[in-house]
Amino acid sequence: MIFDASTRALPLKLSTDLVVVGSGAGGMAAAMAAAEAGVRTLVVEGGEYLTSKDMSQREEQMFPKLLQDGGSQTSADRAVKIHQGRGVGGSTLHNLNLIKRIPDAIRAEWTHTRGLSHLPASRWTALYDELEQLLRVSAVPREQWNRHNQLLEKACSELGWKGGGLSHNRSGCLNSGFCEVGCRYNAKNNAFKVLLPRLLAAGGEVLSNCLAVRVVHEGGAARGVEAVAIDPVTRQVVGEVEITAKRVCLSASATGTAALLLRSDVRDPSGETGNTLRIHPAVIAAGDFEEPVKAWEGIPQTYECTEFLELDKPDGHRVWVLPAFAHPMGTATMIPGHGATHRALMERYAHLGVLTAMIHDLTPGKVRPKGKLGLSIEYWPDEADRAELSLGLWASAKALFAAGAKRVLIPLRAPRVLEPGDDLEWLKTMPIEKGELDVVAVHPMSSVPMGDDPQRAPVGSDGKHHHLQNLWVADGSLFPSSIGVPPQLSIYAMGLHVGRSLAN
Ligand SMILES: Cc1cc2nc3c(=O)[nH]c(=O)nc-3n(C[C@H](O)[C@H](O)[C@H](O)COP(=O)(O)OP(=O)(O)OC[C@H]3O[C@@H](n4cnc5c(N)ncnc54)[C@H](O)[C@@H]3O)c2cc1C
Repeated sequence: MIFDASTRALPLKLSTDLVVVGSGAGGMAAAMAAAEAGVRTLVVEGGEYLTSKDMSQREEQMFPKLLQDGGSQTSADRAVKIHQGRGVGGSTLHNLNLIKRIPDAIRAEWTHTRGLSHLPASRWTALYDELEQLLRVSAVPREQWNRHNQLLEKACSELGWKGGGLSHNRSGCLNSGFCEVGCRYNAKNNAFKVLLPRLLAAGGEVLSNCLAVRVVHEGGAARGVEAVAIDPVTRQVVGEVEITAKRVCLSASATGTAALLLRSDVRDPSGETGNTLRIHPAVIAAGDFEEPVKAWEGIPQTYECTEFLELDKPDGHRVWVLPAFAHPMGTATMIPGHGATHRALMERYAHLGVLTAMIHDLTPGKVRPKGKLGLSIEYWPDEADRAELSLGLWASAKALFAAGAKRVLIPLRAPRVLEPGDDLEWLKTMPIEKGELDVVAVHPMSSVPMGDDPQRAPVGSDGKHHHLQNLWVADGSLFPSSIGVPPQLSIYAMGLHVGRSLAN
């Protein structure tokens, strides 16, 4: 059953065997696995329960529903835009369906430095195999690559750079191109479509519009969750919810989970909780093409350039380049300038092909609880990471020209417009200053990193908290480092793994 906390008689008191906080890739997978193992499970989700019929394909309607802070979440100093989802299904409702496994070299490094005795290579492989089948992951057929993606393929071929097609978890896709505002056609094989029905069939329940405030604990053991019911439109608190549970699993994302742990004063001698956040920061460059690109038509992000993504080399480059499409409102917020300058650029919307360079980051960021319900994020890439972002800008500009762009816009506060034949080398070493250039992130992770040693890690590789009985973590927080690839598959994997561990 799915019920809405904001419409219930409040205050509300509930009791269950397991309460899972958050219903994204991690939370929904953990809840489904536990419920199917016979554990009475309740998921509390701060966002709304929305179905495909609610996905209106309008940015101004969907962003406030599907994104934290309506899409305006930033680092505390506003230097980095950080997008995360909400709703029953979490970020899997609006994400772009890219699927990749964490490279072996990164997982081997984790085993070496953190132990991860519950996650030998064979376990990862089994989880990935199971999930790829469950989510019906397949390579997007070449005939479904839109012109935007074909341009990146052309650039890679012209430059002799490594690249290739991507795999997605979608079926029945009508190429509408509205993935980022939720799928009207329910073609995403995501937490909502695939896992939620299995959770419900196993007797699991979901309480939407319910925001956990803290983990209740006593005598060294978690006893439940203190929460509030939220009005879905105003996001104001409308009443109290108290959930008593034998086990608590936090899956509120890499920002939400760390904030909850810190607000709840859960002991962590390692000091890592909330201090090791990674986000895959990214920058963009836009190419203006003579022929319309119409990047909104068809499936976004079906082709990647991996020339500068050397995740198997200890000191290799860490830059991943791929097309970045935004609907008109999103584009307007990224395009620099005001008035006539801004308008002139927006008039070229149909002709713009945008590339993003996202990096496998090494900089540790911070998450802290803010007030009763909020959180704040501190993140600014360090010098080494900024150098990779500069390389990414150069690579993006070079690729756009190789694909035939007539000019390339580097969206600095005072925009730089480059013409074919212009020197691009300066981009490689361009210092990236706060506020000068939009830095955007969509992959928060690693804020509560797992490890076998309780003195050096807050959580074990089975997801169990080292210092509070009956408490578990199952989301992207668990990764011991950034992963350099889209994270959802591995977060689903963490959910299944932890859900099964805690049910034992
Ligand atoms: C625009 C965009 C595109 C993306 N595209 C891809 C892609 O193509 N491939 C890919 O692999 N990844 C992609 N990602 C990232 C990916 O979707 C996320 O990394 C992943 O889904 C995160 O899973 P999670 O379970 O850790 O957290 P989330 O999915 O963020 O789920 C956490 C849930 O917890 C809820 N919550 C938070 N705090 C509380 C609280 N206190 N009480 C109750 N509920 C709470 C939130 O509302 C949310 O629903 C994309 C992200 C964005 C923003």
